[in-house]
Amino acid sequence: MNKALTLLKSKGLRATVARLQLLSILEETGRARMTAENIFMRVSSEGGSLSLASVYRVLKELSISGLVDRGWYKEGQEIRLLFSLGRVGSERARPEIVCVMCNRSMDIQLPDLRPELNRLAEEMSLQPDDRPIVIQVTCPNCAGK
Ligand SMILES: [Zn+2]
Repeated sequence: MNKALTLLKSKGLRATVARLQLLSILEETGRARMTAENIFMRVSSEGGSLSLASVYRVLKELSISGLVDRGWYKEGQEIRLLFSLGRVGSERARPEIVCVMCNRSMDIQLPDLRPELNRLAEEMSLQPDDRPIVIQVTCPNCAGK
């Protein structure tokens, strides 16, 4: 529960029971991806009273903030919307600038970039995914050659 609380605070989100519960469940399952239905069943088995619709709504809020990753994945013959704990603060979540000539990479200190881009995508009814954000440049060293 504590890590969930820390994650919410890091995004300036209010720690509601629903948010804490869903984040904790995703944290317990590690990197495994779950459907909203699976998460809903876990909530119910733990005595929670969230509806499936609420689970979807809260997952959406959390994915816009970057705390939860979501994407469509093929499972057998079906394509499913799956959720997992977001890679906030991890290598892949961090946007970076990479020189196309020497491949040198430089971190960008813009922690809100991904959540902001995800929010824009949501507004356009697009499905954000968690692929790395890479800005390609020619660094000063290489430009001088
Ligand atoms: Zn370079």
